[in-house]
Amino acid sequence: MQILDGKLVSAAIKAQLAERVAEIKLTGKKVPHLAAILVGNDPASETYVASKVKSCAEIGYNSTLLRFDAQISEKHLLDNITSLNENADIDGILVQLPLPKHINEELVINTIDPSKDVDGFHPVNVGKMVSGLPTFIPATPYGIMLMLEHYNIATKGKHAVVIGRSHIVGTPMSILLSRNSYPGNCTVTLCHSNTANLTEICLQADIIIAAIGRPNFVTANMVKEGAVIVDVGINRVEDASKKSGFRLVGDVKYDEVAPKCSYISPVPGGVGPMTIAALLKNTYHASLGQKVHMN
Ligand code: NAD
Repeated sequence: MQILDGKLVSAAIKAQLAERVAEIKLTGKKVPHLAAILVGNDPASETYVASKVKSCAEIGYNSTLLRFDAQISEKHLLDNITSLNENADIDGILVQLPLPKHINEELVINTIDPSKDVDGFHPVNVGKMVSGLPTFIPATPYGIMLMLEHYNIATKGKHAVVIGRSHIVGTPMSILLSRNSYPGNCTVTLCHSNTANLTEICLQADIIIAAIGRPNFVTANMVKEGAVIVDVGINRVEDASKKSGFRLVGDVKYDEVAPKCSYISPVPGGVGPMTIAALLKNTYHASLGQKVHMN
């Protein structure tokens, strides 16, 4: 069994980007600039945004963090997004989800200029991804693709089972893996909360992408010997032995599943760092006015 080490792969991608930024600085051109919007103070969102901003600084990008109270009006938030759209110095905009219930998430995403939508959630970018056109691919699926590519995982003709159909992870993942490219050319089964016989389906999988949001959901009896497991889940479970009072676990019961796999991504240290690396790549391309083209 080999670990899909997201920390290692993301560090390599960040090092490449840092080199390019250093070259940009030498020529006196503009360095990439990411703007992040955080509404409220959900602890998980705080952590995610903090690590995105920190990663920007590490590789020499500029970043701007706009923090708003959870009570912010929808209009005020949209006005701020519009200002960022119009600000030529800002290359990429991300709004950390989820947003408070009184704010229409769809409207917020639709307000971001598609050319600055480095999370790849705008319908224009989703449509381009589905059509196989160059675009910003949502950061988590893009990060998973980069990880599969880095480890040279065979995907052609394989049966990939994606568990979870969210717009952020499961659905784009299923589209990317079924494309006629590498990584891709999988036969994909997209499973969700209404899927019947999930265990039987998973047992046929050469590759499982688990994006459910339920701790330890995928157990050893659901996994074929030699399968590749990508664990997207980030779940907080109580742990009195930790200073924070919790620890992070994935959607896969790692200890019992890992011995059966050919490859497995850990939590933490797997998909999480790859998501950030992918976001930084999207921001780099946005700053050049390019879109990412995955074949
Ligand atoms: P979501 O809640 O939007 O979607 C969960 C999906 O799981 C749904 O489509 C649902 O149909 C499916 N599901 C729920 N119960 C099921 C069941 N019993 N059987 C089969 N399918 C079931 O979640 P999401 O935004 O896609 O995130 C999923 C997980 O990934 C969460 O733990 C989240 O924190 C994590 N996540 C991690 C990263 C990262 O960078 N590592 C990024 C995004 C999300």
